[in-house]
Amino acid sequence: MYTSSLVNQLKPSETLAAAAKARELRSKGIDVLEFTVGEPDFITPQHIREAAKVAMDAGHTRYTAATGIQELKQAICDAFLRDHGVAWKPSQVTVSNGAKHCLHNVLVACCEPGDEVIIPTPYWVSYSALVELTGAKPVLVETTEKDGFFLTAEQLRQAITPRTRMLMLNSPSNPTGGVYPVAMLQALAEVVVEKDIIVLSDEIYDKLIYPGHEFRTFASFGEEVRKRTVIVNGVSKAYAMTGWRIGWTLAPENVTAAINKLQSQQTSNPCSVSQYAALAALNGPQECVAEMCHEFAKRRDYVVARLKAIPGLSFAEPGGAFYAFFNVSSYFGKPVGGGPAVSNATDFCTALLERAHVALVSGDAFGAPGYVRLSFAASMETLVRGLDAIEAFLAG
Ligand code: PMP
Ligand code: GLU
Repeated sequence: MYTSSLVNQLKPSETLAAAAKARELRSKGIDVLEFTVGEPDFITPQHIREAAKVAMDAGHTRYTAATGIQELKQAICDAFLRDHGVAWKPSQVTVSNGAKHCLHNVLVACCEPGDEVIIPTPYWVSYSALVELTGAKPVLVETTEKDGFFLTAEQLRQAITPRTRMLMLNSPSNPTGGVYPVAMLQALAEVVVEKDIIVLSDEIYDKLIYPGHEFRTFASFGEEVRKRTVIVNGVSKAYAMTGWRIGWTLAPENVTAAINKLQSQQTSNPCSVSQYAALAALNGPQECVAEMCHEFAKRRDYVVARLKAIPGLSFAEPGGAFYAFFNVSSYFGKPVGGGPAVSNATDFCTALLERAHVALVSGDAFGAPGYVRLSFAASMETLVRGLDAIEAFLAG
């Protein structure tokens, strides 16, 4: 049967594909050490699960308002004010089926064929694909490990053309873990206002910040910046709620209205029970977030120390999120894992999986050849075994 050229050109999500490959090996009885998908390995905290059960029993099992229940929109605004000191109104909030859905909504609502969307590389795998689905063109701007993988104001200025509609920013970053220094965000914000472009700020990792780093929302640089900013966030990472599928968008009212119209035609509402669970997450005790972050910080320190001790690897230390993104290109052309040499990051990951049963994601998926991503949202025991196996694989 016919399928559209737009979708034919679309690449499947490589993070999810890498996870599926690992799962397939595991189903054959192989003990795979899995560091592909970026999702917390913790179960959703108990008080949140309880709230979902209560919601179900209270009969919240029907359609809700298409863009989310009012209490949750209010809770999202309250949490933003509490955590970041910036006030939004519930009329500026759309609740959707996860942050990924939010990103798609924003791009469809704001971009048209011919528009350009600036994406600093390395970027999260779905960004360019979602831009292409709107007919707009991703403009990839390379950032380097030496500069912490941060886009500078000068780079942004140079990439802007009369067709530029938007800049996509992600701090803390997936895949690098980089947390933009406040002064760099401020400098980017000045260019954004001067050139009058939209910033789509994906702040899904805002709660996962490690000592020595500071998170600042892009909406905090004054009203002129905020007028041009759309924030995407959700409960997936901070509250270990990836499966519940709740994310949200905060935007100027006309953009929210456009997204709301779109969502009313796409999906009747984000899952009713999940919305009540998200409400409990935002309004309930926040200690669980700090506890999980503390656990991730220990794993981060361990992974960083191990990677530093392996000759020939280089990386920018992650300040947030749960990824280590390291350059393996010095191993290209040398025998690895008791087998023949590999010549790129994708082949490296395949060889690592087949010969050492360790699953990583190739940097090619993130627009960064020569790199691989390790998600340390895995137990300490798995990390110890995984890093031992990586070290042995690299030894030849
Ligand atoms: N943005 C980034 C940077 C992510 O890493 C993820 C995780 N998949 C998402 C958005 C999507 O989050 P969600 O699972 O809520 O759709
Ligand atoms: N953010 C996660 C990752 O990058 C989830 C996977 C996905 O949604 O593609 O691995």
